[in-house]
Amino acid sequence: MSADVRGGSARSELADLPLRDELRGELPYGAPQLVVPVQLNVNENPYPPSGNVVAAIAAAVAEAATTLNRYPDREFLPLRADLAAFLNADADVELQPSQLWAANGSNEIMQQLLQAFGGPGRTAVSFAPTYSMYPEYARNTHTTWVAGRRNTDFSLDLRHAAELIAEHQPSVIILTSPNNPTGTALPLDDVRVVLDAAPGVVVVDEAYAEFRRAGVPSALTLLAEHPELVVTRTMSKAFALAGGRLGYLAAAAAVVDAVRIVRLPYHLSAVAQATARAALAHSAELLATVDTLRVERDDTVSWLRAVGLRAAESDSNFVLFGTFADRHAVWQGLLDRGVLIRETGPDGWLRVSIGTRDEMRAFRTALSEVAKDLLDPRMGDHT
Ligand SMILES: *Cc1c(COP(=O)(O)O)cnc(C)c1O
Repeated sequence: MSADVRGGSARSELADLPLRDELRGELPYGAPQLVVPVQLNVNENPYPPSGNVVAAIAAAVAEAATTLNRYPDREFLPLRADLAAFLNADADVELQPSQLWAANGSNEIMQQLLQAFGGPGRTAVSFAPTYSMYPEYARNTHTTWVAGRRNTDFSLDLRHAAELIAEHQPSVIILTSPNNPTGTALPLDDVRVVLDAAPGVVVVDEAYAEFRRAGVPSALTLLAEHPELVVTRTMSKAFALAGGRLGYLAAAAAVVDAVRIVRLPYHLSAVAQATARAALAHSAELLATVDTLRVERDDTVSWLRAVGLRAAESDSNFVLFGTFADRHAVWQGLLDRGVLIRETGPDGWLRVSIGTRDEMRAFRTALSEVAKDLLDPRMGDHT
């Protein structure tokens, strides 16, 4: 078997296999994983865990390793209790462990939700531009995918949303707040309008919720009144645990029961459970970088606007900015200067994840060089 540089096999060999028709010609999803000095492309937290947190995780994993001959705890109630305690403090709610569920990243959570509530003959609806993975989970679960649109400021067009919901009667609606790649948060009133119109479940993906600005509420506060609402979160972003693969949902206990029917047995390894619990025990320390990143984000938005570019409102740890007649040339120019960002979003826009102060300085310097003909020269020192 010949392997190409991306770790896949030659395409001609793939063509000979009885692959599902809708998967023919498809490529595995993923942003380029390039090794460059400044990586601002997949919305990771740039700060690695401290020595203290690393030691706590290592100790917890060592303890778990003593029983790795056994399958892990399938219901992982201790972890679910820790997650409930974290959310209860974060959003001032009163969730029980039975209302929490976790998996290998919130990507797996979303797939489990579509396995349980989507499927052949059913439709999932979302509003573009939004997270590019959703259509792939829909495809993988044989769920029909319908993408509505947003207003030009990336807010929801509620009238359009209501029409789309009435027309397609989706069993799953996915809202994303703050939205990726735009960074915009949804007002709870908009979520309520969608909940009232929805014939099925409404998933609010809050992967970036910890970065929201003061006063922006979480959809968790709507759970008590809405049994059809599911809120998903992840430890990949604010918690600086992307490598740990731990995503979770909060919902009515009945939603958790539905997902438990489709989950693979023992899907969440003992190592992942131990890692997540150790990280949650240090949540204050891990989340201490969030304030720094918020300030850096707001500074980035201000700078982009000051030099004459557009930047979307952001409640997340990234900023969508533009617009460029040739965004690929700008992306490539930044990469040539050692700064990797993401070519995503509507035509002409680019997305930059918020890194450390030094990394953002490198981004500004590189962008000033690459787009010098586009930026406002009166700004002078761009760094
Ligand atoms: C990053 C991201 C996730 C998180 O994925 P994990 O599988 O938890 O790492 C989920 N939703 C959105 C919109 C994201 O951008």
